[in-house]
Amino acid sequence: MNSNEGRYRIIVDRNLCISCRSCVDATPKIFELDGELKAVVKEGAEIELVTLLAAAQSCAVGAITVIDTLTGETLWPLVP
Ligand code: SF4
Repeated sequence: MNSNEGRYRIIVDRNLCISCRSCVDATPKIFELDGELKAVVKEGAEIELVTLLAAAQSCAVGAITVIDTLTGETLWPLVP
């Protein structure tokens, strides 16, 4: 698990991550791959919600969860 505790809590499920780099390619300012080739949030990354959600949505295996820390709302994945 990887989390950025600013306005948005970003959780990457390392067990699900298949190292495809889709999130990194979508938002290289936010995500990078670590030494185990799993996606992590960059230290000090400035988070822009629109691009963050684009990256989360690009993950084919649903490894990225985004939570608004002010409201507690899960912004991604969408819950019906
Ligand atoms: S898009 Fe998903 S599976 Fe691909 S590197 Fe990012 S978190 Fe991992």
